[in-house]
Amino acid sequence: MCGIIGVLGSSTAAQEVGQGLLMLQHRGQDSAGILSVDPDFGKFHMHKAMGHVSQVFPSGDSIRRLAGNAAIGHTRYSTLGDVKESDLQPIALSHPVGIGAVHNGNLSNYNELRAELILKRRVFMTDNDLEVILQLFADGYGVASGSTLQRVSAATRAVLKVAEGGYSVVGLLGSEGLFAFRDPHGIRPLILGKRLTAQGGNAYALASESCALTFLGYQVIRDVRPGELIWIDENGMLSSVHVLEKKALPCMFEWVYFSGADSTLEEKSVSSVRLKLGERLAARIRAMPNMPQFDIVAPVPETARPAAIALSENLGIPFRDVLIKNRYVQRSFILNGQDRRKVAVNLKFSVVDSLVRGKSILLVDDSIVRGTTSARLIELLRDHGARQVYFASTCPPITHPCFYGIDFPTPEELIATSNGEEGVAVKLGANGVFYASMEDLSSALGGSSVCSACLTGQYPYPTQESETHA
Ligand code: 5GP
Ligand code: MG
Repeated sequence: MCGIIGVLGSSTAAQEVGQGLLMLQHRGQDSAGILSVDPDFGKFHMHKAMGHVSQVFPSGDSIRRLAGNAAIGHTRYSTLGDVKESDLQPIALSHPVGIGAVHNGNLSNYNELRAELILKRRVFMTDNDLEVILQLFADGYGVASGSTLQRVSAATRAVLKVAEGGYSVVGLLGSEGLFAFRDPHGIRPLILGKRLTAQGGNAYALASESCALTFLGYQVIRDVRPGELIWIDENGMLSSVHVLEKKALPCMFEWVYFSGADSTLEEKSVSSVRLKLGERLAARIRAMPNMPQFDIVAPVPETARPAAIALSENLGIPFRDVLIKNRYVQRSFILNGQDRRKVAVNLKFSVVDSLVRGKSILLVDDSIVRGTTSARLIELLRDHGARQVYFASTCPPITHPCFYGIDFPTPEELIATSNGEEGVAVKLGANGVFYASMEDLSSALGGSSVCSACLTGQYPYPTQESETHA
């Protein structure tokens, strides 16, 4: 997963993009980068490197060098093993026009598309999906005629008609303007905002999540539609073209886990959906013939807190924060490799012993993927004298890999692929496990259609590849 943002029409575009990236840091911590365009010199300025946003851009000066009134930025969480410096974003091409872009997502037919381009004697500088997208875009632009908008629409069509998967792209076409588009099913998020500048003009921003827009003082206009192109020219004129729209299938995992609690996607607040998931789980647990006795409900910080609060309120059982997160340790999932992750999990949480000892605990997390985190946390609570530990997951069982940008492993590694609730409980060392059902998830999302291929195995595209790229 990654966080992306673009700004046009602000004299401090790169600074805004840098601040926006801080608001999107939870979407990826491996690397960060910003590209700006300086029309006076006909030049792209770019800086990208490994590390958190604050490490890559340690001072105001490091960002101020990226001059111009339009800029794009990226923060990366690589879904593919090791992170290579050459794969960092933004990526720029200078032919047939200068194009710089960032993306979030994954193409499920990446290898196929890349092989076709290589047959046409193309050469690649990276192993990044975005480079395939950009080559397709540049080809479409190169052969099109007409106005810039017509050419950018043709370029976007050239991508959308062949690129399968989940992807949101934001880019700069030289200094002519900013383009942004979403995959035909709208699997990955992208949202548009606007603000008035001190000079009375309009500045526009597009970002993965609304929390970045509102933080920067932009008014949220709306989500970009599936398969829609947004084009904002250098004078701040905005155009929208519905290039290739299929059934809207935004990724359900954005609400469950990925997006910030302060964001709203597709007009549904992330926090409210998480509260509803907790309510639904409470109803399910209460309806059990032999509902276990719990003394407290405790969240796995931070994503599961709203759901745990709702569970506590609806079951009438006290809410207690018993796991304290060390905010200076990197998120466990971000480290690649199972062993390093285990070490990080060990370090990440400490336990409030006095609240745990002798208690029957209902521990709540957003999801169970491999089961590594939950097994370790249950063990930790037992080490601190918990009498019983039950585990609730607001996400239904994850049984299939994601090919559209979420780092879910092979079916063999996914704990729910070959285990039912009882089997998972045994593996986790829990007294019992409760998953939200598909109906619970659907009702929490107001019944709207979502991509839930990882839960059902029903993929929106026929091609599935095991390799994933960020
Ligand atoms: P597990 O340990 O079962 O493999 O992973 C479940 C835990 O990882 C949950 O606490 C969940 O919040 C977190 N998680 C799930 N998906 C992702 C992801 O894509 N990235 C990161 N950083 N954490 C994740
Ligand atoms: Mg978690």
